[in-house]
Amino acid sequence: MFKKILIANRGEIALRIQRACKEMGIKAVVVYSEADRDAKYVKLADEAVCIGPAPSGLSYLSMPAIISAAEVTDAEAIHPGYGFLSENADFAERVEKSGFTFIGPTPESIRLMGDKVSAKQAMIRAGVPCVPGSEGALPDDPAVIKRTAKAVGYPVIIKAAGGGGGRGMRVVHTEAALLHAVQTTKAEAGSAFGNPEVYMEKFLQNPRHIEIQILADQHKNAVYLGERDCSMQRRHQKVIEEAPAPGIPRKLIEKIGERCSAACKKIGYRGAGTFEFLFENGEFYFIEMNTRVQVEHPVTEWISGVDIVRTQIAVAAGEKLPFTQKQIELRGHAIECRINAEDAYKFTPSPGRITSWHMPGGPGVRVDSHAYTNYFVPSNYDSMIGKLIVYGDTREQALARMRTALSETVIEGIKTNIPLHREIMVDASFVAGGTNIHYLEEWLSRRER
Ligand code: ADP
Repeated sequence: MFKKILIANRGEIALRIQRACKEMGIKAVVVYSEADRDAKYVKLADEAVCIGPAPSGLSYLSMPAIISAAEVTDAEAIHPGYGFLSENADFAERVEKSGFTFIGPTPESIRLMGDKVSAKQAMIRAGVPCVPGSEGALPDDPAVIKRTAKAVGYPVIIKAAGGGGGRGMRVVHTEAALLHAVQTTKAEAGSAFGNPEVYMEKFLQNPRHIEIQILADQHKNAVYLGERDCSMQRRHQKVIEEAPAPGIPRKLIEKIGERCSAACKKIGYRGAGTFEFLFENGEFYFIEMNTRVQVEHPVTEWISGVDIVRTQIAVAAGEKLPFTQKQIELRGHAIECRINAEDAYKFTPSPGRITSWHMPGGPGVRVDSHAYTNYFVPSNYDSMIGKLIVYGDTREQALARMRTALSETVIEGIKTNIPLHREIMVDASFVAGGTNIHYLEEWLSRRER
C-alpha cells in the first residue's frame, strides 16, 4: 500500500479523500491555491503545498505545479478527485511518466471515454444500449447532416464530443434550425473544449437520469454497485441524487449493471467509474461515462456499505477488489442534497464569509463539507460548499430524515440553496418518486409565476 498520497483537488472532496487516507494509515498531502490557504482541511493534512494563486488555471489545473508538489513531498500516488484534472488523460499520463501512480483509470481509458463519440462507439461494441443518433461525429456536408436528422427523427440534440459539465449541447426541433445549430455548437465546442467535433442524438422528451456505479481492479474483476437517480437537475447540473432509483424493477438494473461491468472488463477499465444513462419507457440509453469518483458517490456508499474512495486507492495500489458481485448487497435508501453557496431561487453565486454554520446529526445523517463557522467561501470556484446525505431503511424514512436534517441546518452570512431543498422535500411529485430530468426546472418556473 502507498505510504503517501497527494490530493490534487480542493473543497469537500479533498477532505473526503484525506479521511480515507487517514483511515488507511496513508499520509495525505494536500495542494492549495492562495484562496484556500486557510481552509481547515489544509491544516488537517499531514503536509500542504501552495501551488499558486486563486485562479484554477494557475493552481488546480497546473500540471507542473502539482507534479512538483508530489516530487518535493515524496508522494507515491496522486488522487485527482472530481472536476479539475480528474478526467484529463494528458495529466494521468504525465503523472505516470513522472513515476507516480494515478489513482484512476489508464490514460487510454480516460481518452477513450472522454471523447463522447469514441465512448459511444466503444459502448455499442460492448453491447451497452445507446441513444439512437449519428454514427460518430457529424461530417461537414449539409445534406448528410439533414439526412441524419431526418433518420433519427426530430427533435434531435447536437452535442460536443469533448463536452462536459452540461455545456456544449443544443436541442433542434426543425430542419430550418438544424444547420445553424450545428455550426454554432461546433464553434462553441472548438473554443470551449478545443475540439469542434459534434454528434447528433435523438432528444429524449421525458427521460430520467439513471447512472450505474462501477468499480474495477487491475485483475480483470469489475462489479456494479447499483444505480443512482440524478434526475433532479437544473441546467444539466445535478441538485439532488438518490439511490436506489424509485420504481425501476431490480431485474432491469441488474441487466444493465451486468452490461456495464462486462464493458469495463472489455475495455480494461480500472478504478471507479460511472455509466450515465437516460431512462425512458423502461429502456436505458447510455450517454456518457465519468472516469472518476463522483460528487454523489456517498448515496451508493450508504446503500452498498462499500467505501468507494478507499477502494479506488486499494485498486490503484494493485489490490484485488475485496468483494465479488454476489457479495454486494444493496440495502435501504439514501438521498443527497448538494449545498450550494447561491441564491436558492435566482442561483446567483453567494461567496463570502460564513458567520454561522450548524450541521444536523442523528441516525442516518452524513455531512461531507469542508466549511465551518468563519470559513470564507472563495468566489473563484464551484459554488458547492458541502453535501447533506441521509439514509433510511425505506425511501419514506430517508425523506423524513432529510426534512429533519434540513430543518436543523443553519448557515448564515451567505445565501444557500437550503430553502429550495426544504421545499422540494415536501413536493408531492418528488415525494412520490420517479420525476424526470425536466421536473426541477418546470417546478422552478411554476414557482416564479
Ligand atoms: P455532460 O457531460 O455535459 O454532463 P451529458 O451527455 O451527460 O453531458 O448530458 C447531460 C444532461 O443533458 C443529461 O443528464 C440530460 O439532462 C441532457 N441530455 C443529454 N443528452 C440528451 C438526449 N439525447 N436527450 C435528452 N436529454 C439529453
